[in-house]
Amino acid sequence: MSLLTVKGLTTEFHTRRGVVTAVDDVDLTVNRGELVGLVGESGSGKTVLAESVVGLVEEPGVVTADSIVFDGQRLDQLTESEMRTLRGGKIAMVFQDPMTSLNPTISTGEQIAEAVRLHNDTGESISLPAELKRKIFGAAKDTESWRRAIELLEEVGIPEPSVRVTEYPHEFSGGMRQRVMISMALAGEPDLLIADEPTTALDVTVQAQILEDLKSLSQEFDTAILMITHDLAVVAETCDRVNVMYAGNIIERAPADELFANPQHPYTQGLLASTPRANKRRKLDPIPGNVPDLTNISYACHFAPRCPESTAECYDVEPEFRSMGPDHVAACLQRDPEVSDRE
Ligand code: SF4
Repeated sequence: MSLLTVKGLTTEFHTRRGVVTAVDDVDLTVNRGELVGLVGESGSGKTVLAESVVGLVEEPGVVTADSIVFDGQRLDQLTESEMRTLRGGKIAMVFQDPMTSLNPTISTGEQIAEAVRLHNDTGESISLPAELKRKIFGAAKDTESWRRAIELLEEVGIPEPSVRVTEYPHEFSGGMRQRVMISMALAGEPDLLIADEPTTALDVTVQAQILEDLKSLSQEFDTAILMITHDLAVVAETCDRVNVMYAGNIIERAPADELFANPQHPYTQGLLASTPRANKRRKLDPIPGNVPDLTNISYACHFAPRCPESTAECYDVEPEFRSMGPDHVAACLQRDPEVSDRE
């Protein structure tokens, strides 16, 4: 069942150089409990798309959408304060660098307990500024929220949680800090967790552990995850379905297994050819060129200047999604479903 349905979302930034269309008429669906990947190079619009959904785009950004429906509620019709209540509650977020999100002067336990108090009915939550609440409740280590903080640290795999709960962020490794962030995100038992490059700053072994943890936590909490990453290997590890994004457009979407077995869009094929794969020794072949400047792109297919298969038509005719098989679509003029590998 659909948890999040986004239709016709466009995000523009009006700058002195012109209008930057960071997200261009995009549709996106995340089902309950599902792990969905949003993958593409840096600058493709992935983060702006997620920020647009949860109302985090600031001026000069302008978000328009036909509709954004989350759990039956129109997000595009909520006030800022209603959106704030939703964020960190039913929708939570984890970012690449936990140090920018954690307060270095407050113990991790107090920060998690505060997240629990904000989003759960612990009987301790009152309408006061967060800093004041912390002063009142923060030191009370026998509270329900404090006990829950220890449980959450345990659930994300922090050893000796009842000891570590009193330590400060700088006393944790990078991987452990990211686990602390995940525990804070889970404090409100969200229906949707948006994870934006959550393992990019970590070494490969820690990355694999955290992805594994996210998968099992998603099952335990029945939380859907929108995994934003530039790394197809991360998507391969975690996701049920994948959306590939390029220069503001989603250009291919398919179940993860299908996408890796039968990529159709030349950009997806290029991404796969440039991604190292476990247990496979082969020459990596980077995609030539860069993501274009999104200010007033003048050609119809945004990938045309980098595409090995482009023709004159690609510069004039905007590619629409074509069916490539069950639940598999790609936006490329040179792909005819009737002659694709699966037909
Ligand atoms: S429409 Fe043309 S330029 Fe765009 S991806 Fe397909 S072949 Fe390449």
